[in-house]
Amino acid sequence: MMLIDEKRIHEVIDSRKPHSVALNGPEGLIPRIQTSAANITEKFGIPAYIIGDTCWGSCDLNTQAADILGVEILFNIGHTIANETFGERVIMINAYDDISFDRVARKCASSLQNENYKTLSLLTDSQHLNQIGNVKEIFEEYGYKVIIGKGKGQLNDGQVFGCEFYPAFDIQNLVDAYIFLGQSRFHSVSVAMSTEKPTYMLDPYFEEYSQINKIAQMFKKKAILSIYKAMDARGIGIIIGLKEGQFAKIQALKLKKLFEQLGKRVQLIAMTNITNDHVRIFKGLDAFVEVACPRIAIDDHFDKPMLSTPQAFALIKLLKNEPIEDLLKIHHWL
Ligand code: SF4
Repeated sequence: MMLIDEKRIHEVIDSRKPHSVALNGPEGLIPRIQTSAANITEKFGIPAYIIGDTCWGSCDLNTQAADILGVEILFNIGHTIANETFGERVIMINAYDDISFDRVARKCASSLQNENYKTLSLLTDSQHLNQIGNVKEIFEEYGYKVIIGKGKGQLNDGQVFGCEFYPAFDIQNLVDAYIFLGQSRFHSVSVAMSTEKPTYMLDPYFEEYSQINKIAQMFKKKAILSIYKAMDARGIGIIIGLKEGQFAKIQALKLKKLFEQLGKRVQLIAMTNITNDHVRIFKGLDAFVEVACPRIAIDDHFDKPMLSTPQAFALIKLLKNEPIEDLLKIHHWL
């Protein structure tokens, strides 16, 4: 069960005495957030608004919604990062899953002994960060050396985002395989894509573990295919995401200049939710680049080629007849 750190929410409200607050978090947490909001109103007698728009991470805080609502505090729930606050108003609140990894970790540690891995590294997303220590001890009991990669920027030790992998990437020469704690294909696939090392996902709910590299290979092929499909595009739409943590206008202007030098016609577009339905409206453009969340281009389906920032730079290389291997073997896809 997901447990929201309501104690911290109440401490903040107690000390700052706001007239109203807002809460937002990932879709799967909304029912729990509803309970937290009701508890705030019951205890403090103030309105607690739940922002129902998507909230993908610390890159997607919905501060504009908080502005419009006029709240003094916005609690962002379930995206544990190294920062506890963003400015005066946004407070990051932990939400941890209390499910145990003991059985699946033992199952995996025992089976992988056939693979002759000596050194493993554990990684996870925010909701299972509190389990890394226990799982490390289990793998060590089975004789593995276990390294937890150092965090950087917003990332804690052993934590990865869907587009940022310092704790995995920086130690790749020291480890034989990665073990990702949690049911997130979204995160584990990106570890496999950015390191190209054996990567396993531990699912504590079904008590199963699975190697994720074949799926990662499929995503990589799709990403490369889109780049080749975009080569003949005459008109390219460059989409600037309007979510505050994904806003990259400078990158968009840099890419515009580079594409124009290569004879492409570029149109600049700004959009909050980048979906095929929104993009297909634009006429006279043969391919798109989105400089917002790279996973939109890599994971989602679009009628016309849609490239993330690293794919766009790879396209520029291809247009100059330069090689593009290792385009996603980088520590950050933005
Ligand atoms: S993958 Fe996308 S949603 Fe996740 S942190 Fe990166 S930009 Fe944000």
